[in-house]
Amino acid sequence: MPRPISATVSVSSLSHNLHTVIRQLGPAAGQRAPSVWAVIKANAYGHGIDNAVRGFQQAQGLAMLDLDEAVRCRELGWDKPILLLEGFFQPGDIAVLQEYRLTTAVHCQEQLDMLLAAGAARPGAARPLDAFIKLNTGMNRLGFAAEDYPGAYRQALAAQERGILGAVGKMTHFARADDDPIVTRQQLDIFHQATQGLPGKVSVCNSAATLTQGLWAGVSVPQGQEQWLRPGICLYGASPFADRTAEQLGLLPAMTLAAELISVRRIAGGAAVGYGHSFVSSEPMRVGIVACGYADGYPRHAGTGTPIVVDGVRTRVLGRVSMDMLAVDLTPVPRARVGSRVVLWGQGGPSVDEVALAAGTIGYELLCALAPRVPKIIA
Ligand SMILES: *Cc1c(COP(=O)(O)O)cnc(C)c1O
Repeated sequence: MPRPISATVSVSSLSHNLHTVIRQLGPAAGQRAPSVWAVIKANAYGHGIDNAVRGFQQAQGLAMLDLDEAVRCRELGWDKPILLLEGFFQPGDIAVLQEYRLTTAVHCQEQLDMLLAAGAARPGAARPLDAFIKLNTGMNRLGFAAEDYPGAYRQALAAQERGILGAVGKMTHFARADDDPIVTRQQLDIFHQATQGLPGKVSVCNSAATLTQGLWAGVSVPQGQEQWLRPGICLYGASPFADRTAEQLGLLPAMTLAAELISVRRIAGGAAVGYGHSFVSSEPMRVGIVACGYADGYPRHAGTGTPIVVDGVRTRVLGRVSMDMLAVDLTPVPRARVGSRVVLWGQGGPSVDEVALAAGTIGYELLCALAPRVPKIIA
């Protein structure tokens, strides 16, 4: 018998979430409805590339980082655009991008130089690559500085003339779309200023920006061009916002991490539980041991009080999470026994965001960190 733990991935919830996001994007005045890159980096935030490709059939494109994941999408029959969010890393990648018709982000001069050199080496032979030239508007992670941007864009347009690049567009990334509209507005102003008059498509909005009323509609898009949104986390049924739950956003959890009780014991008042004896009971109680630990991707920093559901009843984690096990308070679940179902997060359990909050992190990290040893059930 395998250990009683699994992660159920719901393809229909992935589709539902994408549909929910798209439904609230009526076309803004004078603009056509935006297109969506469904972001599936990090193995589709832990949900599996294959499941994401099936769940996101309605998206106009897919966006990710790994070349291998992009190739996998093509092998699965995804024929629409694929965006590499960090572009390519070495000259040898360029031929692969061409072969698989991948759209590349270009965020630095080194990448532009590699493209120009590759084009010069094989004049006319290669298929032109579509590209988004990235502007740094204050995230200070990737992207050309505003003062260098028009020059970089001119080089990209020249590469287009030479048949090295196909469509050329503009992109940036927000640092605080989830919590600070003023900083976000400043970033958007910098974007508008630096890209003014430059032709091409536009891609700016992550989940938080996509779900912020009026934000994407305020992005200026040249006549006849498209805006591409880049939602990620919301498509998996987690919230990008600290003050709005996924449920309030109409999203469904796409991953449910569930296990079983493998032991039930009664402890005396004053007894302690687990490593470091960090939990000490004040009275006699029943404690359940769950077949899930940090080696499964459950966060070790989720301490006593973290919500968890046993036999449909919400209760709490006790003490420190071990590598392969954790303890729960069975006081509110008197009938719980070995084999009782435990939901760590997802459908019928706490949201991944609640568990993340208790562990001092964000839902993104928990979803991505699901360990390969946890079997996935596709529903
Ligand atoms: C991860 C990522 C996104 C998606 O972000 P979410 O917060 O998950 O919606 C969009 N754009 C870029 C460049 C990213 O790296």
